[in-house]
Amino acid sequence: MSVRPTTGDAYRDWGPPAAPVEPRVEDGARIADDRTVDCDVCVIGTGAGGAPLAKELAEGGMRVVMLEEGRHFTTDDFTARPREMSTILYRDAGQTVTVGNVPIILPLGKGVGGTTMINSGTCFRTPPPVLEMWSERFGLDELNADELDPYFRRVERELNVVQVPEDRAGRNALVVKRGADALGWRGDFIWRNARGCVGSGVCSFGCPTSAKQHVGLSYVPRAWAAGATTYTECRAERIEHDGRRARGVIARAAGGGTVRVECAHVVVACGAIHTPVFLARQGLGGHSGELGRNLAIHPATAVRALFDEEIEMANGVPQSYFIDEFADDGIMLEGAAGPPDYAAMSFPFSGERHRELMLQFRNIGQFGLMVSDLSRGWVRERAGRIEIRYDLGPEDTATFRRGIERLCELFVAAGARAIYPPVTSVAELTGGDLEPLRRAEVKAQDLVLMAFHPLGTARADARRDHGVVTGELRLHEMENVWVSDASVIPSSIGVNPQITIMALATRLAYRLLGKAAPDDEPEPESIARPRITQPHALTA
Ligand SMILES: Cc1cc2nc3c(=O)[nH]c(=O)nc-3n(C[C@H](O)[C@H](O)[C@H](O)COP(=O)(O)OP(=O)(O)OC[C@H]3O[C@@H](n4cnc5c(N)ncnc54)[C@H](O)[C@@H]3O)c2cc1C
Ligand code: SF4
Repeated sequence: MSVRPTTGDAYRDWGPPAAPVEPRVEDGARIADDRTVDCDVCVIGTGAGGAPLAKELAEGGMRVVMLEEGRHFTTDDFTARPREMSTILYRDAGQTVTVGNVPIILPLGKGVGGTTMINSGTCFRTPPPVLEMWSERFGLDELNADELDPYFRRVERELNVVQVPEDRAGRNALVVKRGADALGWRGDFIWRNARGCVGSGVCSFGCPTSAKQHVGLSYVPRAWAAGATTYTECRAERIEHDGRRARGVIARAAGGGTVRVECAHVVVACGAIHTPVFLARQGLGGHSGELGRNLAIHPATAVRALFDEEIEMANGVPQSYFIDEFADDGIMLEGAAGPPDYAAMSFPFSGERHRELMLQFRNIGQFGLMVSDLSRGWVRERAGRIEIRYDLGPEDTATFRRGIERLCELFVAAGARAIYPPVTSVAELTGGDLEPLRRAEVKAQDLVLMAFHPLGTARADARRDHGVVTGELRLHEMENVWVSDASVIPSSIGVNPQITIMALATRLAYRLLGKAAPDDEPEPESIARPRITQPHALTA
């Protein structure tokens, strides 16, 4: 078995130049007529779940049509200015928010590549204990580490998943590592899907150098090269079906026309917020009452700290280091950094105090914290609007409290002069004194939260009465409608989910093609092995 390099030079190298591919894009903004196209598989959505599936099917000889509500952006569109980019690359300019006991911003990407276009590029396989728990709780026996290994390898090779070398990690991460090392906490540089990354620090606003291998840059062009077509700015509105089989999909084009896709299979890959709403509109997926429920989001926050030394958090890979010392307690610490205009939107305080803090931007460090949530929310459509309800439960609130305290301890160990926890009643900690935080009563509404990983709203469960799709990702009640996105993931997984979603999508493609798993994928020289041994917090 060959070995694929994943360290040092493998990260810095651009690798062999990709052959230019003619985009096979039909621009929905120019479609004013009503047209019908014919294919084997219609894939709705071109994100982490849709794009790998489309590529594998097209390369396997199937005729594939992708429908995408957003536009097709190229690297030339990416200006590296967060304020400009968030208005065009994010759905609702990044202002999707949950309602509940604490508002949580839940940004989503919209365009060819979906949310991978604006994600941080962190790559983790599903931890094996999580897969074991899926088998026990959801009857997903086939989704075990051995079965998925060839698909993980394939995805990781396609995306060039490699480990960030120290010289690209940025000072922000190195200062955090210094603190973690002083405390004896376990961590490592993150494995990412990148080729020739220069550490420009704006992954979440469209990589301006084509280094980040988001699926709109990697998988979708490979699908085009194999004959697939993407209809952009075409929003799928209806699946034509008789309750057992689907015949086709009707999409509304931004130019006013319609595209009717006649197909043998429909794959819904709109993401965990839009897939359940779309299926509910079709009268599909509702048999068990689980559609739209079981929403896990991996709620997250960040702690900032002021240092005497210059940190320059805008330089380097923004999410380049992780600390899994507390992963079994449901707490994963991961980098979070960015340029000043991004920071200005999220730093605490207002008015003169905010200005003073921003003037010290060069000396401020920041690190993130993600919780494997026990809380569950739901998604539904009401009066034409999508409503996302999520209440942070007391156990998760307590986990946040512990995680924030750990991060503050880390910043003290790293030598911070002042620390800014994301807790409204404790604005600032100075002199290494964490007592005000330890004494504070922290309720959910006192926390400043975001979330980046909606999961579970069309969950896979082998039992018809408990899930929306089977372990094969087919809607329980339909013969030829499949779901391939974050909504099928049945629980929190404790790590960033894109590789899980892509591996499941690749497996589904192999099943639809009737092919055995690939047996020639190289073994990675190294791979992240986060310390999650007891996924206790994931089984709500
Ligand atoms: C800022 C940020 C950073 C992140 N960082 C990481 C990270 O470092 N690592 C990681 O693993 N994960 C990360 N994630 C999460 C990860 O990107 C997502 O989990 C993943 O992309 C979800 O894949 P998906 O296929 O479910 O949905 P998406 O990737 O969101 O794709 C869904 C697509 O469907 C389209 N669509 C929706 N409805 C329709 C319709 N009716 N018709 C046509 N098209 C439609 C949407 O426009 C979208 O393009 C991050 C997320 C965010 C927001
Ligand atoms: S750090 Fe810069 S070059 Fe590297 S992947 Fe992110 S945006 Fe691209």
